[in-house]
Amino acid sequence: MKKTIAVIGGGFGGLAAAIRLAAQGHSVDLYEKRDKLGGRGYQYDINGFKFDGGPTVITAPYIFDEIFEAAGKQREDYFKLVPLDPFYRIFDHQGNHFDYRHDHEQMLLEIDRWNPDDRPNYDRFVEHTRKIFSLFHPYTDKPFLGMPAMLRIMPAVIKLAGYMPTYAFVSRYIRHDFLRRVFSFHPLLIGGNPFDTPSLYTLIVQFEKEWGVHYAIGGTGAIVAGFERLFIELGGRIHLNSEVKEILGEDRRVKSLRMADGSVHNADIVVCNGDVPFVYKHLIHKNFRKKYTDARIDRFNFSTSLFVIYFGTKRRYLDSKLAHHNIIMNQRYKELLKDLFKARLLPDDFSLYLHMPTITDPSIAPEGCESFYVLSLVPNLKANVDWQTLAETYKARVLDFLQDNYLPDLRQNIIAEHFIDPLHFQNTLNSYHGAAFSIKPTLLQSAFFRPHNRSEELDNLYFVGAGTHPGAGVPAVLSSGKIAANLIQSDLQQSGE
Ligand SMILES: Cc1cc2nc3c(=O)[nH]c(=O)nc-3n(C[C@H](O)[C@H](O)[C@H](O)COP(=O)(O)OP(=O)(O)OC[C@H]3O[C@@H](n4cnc5c(N)ncnc54)[C@H](O)[C@@H]3O)c2cc1C
Repeated sequence: MKKTIAVIGGGFGGLAAAIRLAAQGHSVDLYEKRDKLGGRGYQYDINGFKFDGGPTVITAPYIFDEIFEAAGKQREDYFKLVPLDPFYRIFDHQGNHFDYRHDHEQMLLEIDRWNPDDRPNYDRFVEHTRKIFSLFHPYTDKPFLGMPAMLRIMPAVIKLAGYMPTYAFVSRYIRHDFLRRVFSFHPLLIGGNPFDTPSLYTLIVQFEKEWGVHYAIGGTGAIVAGFERLFIELGGRIHLNSEVKEILGEDRRVKSLRMADGSVHNADIVVCNGDVPFVYKHLIHKNFRKKYTDARIDRFNFSTSLFVIYFGTKRRYLDSKLAHHNIIMNQRYKELLKDLFKARLLPDDFSLYLHMPTITDPSIAPEGCESFYVLSLVPNLKANVDWQTLAETYKARVLDFLQDNYLPDLRQNIIAEHFIDPLHFQNTLNSYHGAAFSIKPTLLQSAFFRPHNRSEELDNLYFVGAGTHPGAGVPAVLSSGKIAANLIQSDLQQSGE
């Protein structure tokens, strides 16, 4: 039977769930706090530049395609994806680079340039990650609601050393110090520390190998716009500038949502794309929370935050040594990550991710201009850093570094600029402690141990997004939308509604 469903938040998780539920025939309202959809994938329009706010590395196009297929449509009619190669250009602290390629033979040639002895080791490493992928891939779009499912996979996790920290796992195979970094950085893409994120997450490596790394023409914002169009075509209603302040319940069931303007909207079912720990703590009354008490929420281990500078230049930098996706590694690796994740200091040094999308798609900047964003991992707000005072200095340090090492005369060529810091994640995106990737992906915060896609507190409340299963990253949160929509369908069938 057709239900009235409210979706809180228009990030990728919320959009995926909203579209699938509208395609099932439900009446769906999506409430988004900001003036545009996308969440972390919000696209900023500044002086003729389109800057993607967050996700830029697009993997597993089949997950995007499936959403359109569920609605009887074709993704290609909404936005275009183009493959990138190299996936990443990874620089060491001296500016030497490794091109992380799609093609296996090309990858071996790159390894040869750094350490030919690691050639066979790399083959064995890939073979192992392939086994991990085969085991865990089927679980990435299924709910993890019960302990029995967890117990069933544990023997295989142990057999495949899926519990081992990623860096240690990579080091079992790869000998060269820089190559160990090159093959262990992937947890950083989802908020994890390679030194404690379990190697089961190396399935991301295989996701890239299987389906490539892609870019959406027009930027990631074009994907958001495509989803928005599809949702509206399916009859969905979008309410922007609409913040939900409280999820109101009765007898273990959500009844309605109280909005920032005081209005109340009833719903049969609620899907929440807000950050799970933030939502439990601030939107759901303590009386409904048996498991997620304030103390339990504070015991979660959170991901780091990010400092991101978006900048557009009045000249092109095609003569630089940069590719589309660049990772600029610091001399310190383990110690730097320890500072960021454990000591919660703001270190003086940094590793950077530098995005240069205009190399692939000049249409997102004015003619003759280049568009960039540079991202630095910084501690979340549990650290004692006063960003209101420090942000400008930090920004200047990062831009000076780029000017001195990669982008000559940068400062005098910038004609569009914006930045976000941990306060943005906390205050604009409602993320607990300003964590950029919500709850950190550790073994004891994964799968069954992560907050479930069906709320453990309120029966008709479902969660999508980075803080629930399967975790952070666009493919994962899109999959959470599939999981929630399927759960709702089967729950309705079981209850005969
Ligand atoms: C800078 C950056 C770069 C990244 N790069 C990549 C990448 O290259 N590839 C990749 O796969 N992943 C990347 N990620 C991770 C990925 O972007 C996220 O994991 C994913 O987009 C999170 O989606 P989500 O569905 O959890 O929702 P979010 O994007 O967190 O959106 C949640 C939405 O809910 C809204 N909301 C929250 N509370 C309320 C409320 N009470 N009422 C109404 N609305 C509310 C928010 O405003 C927001 O729009 C990156 C993340 C960041 C921050």
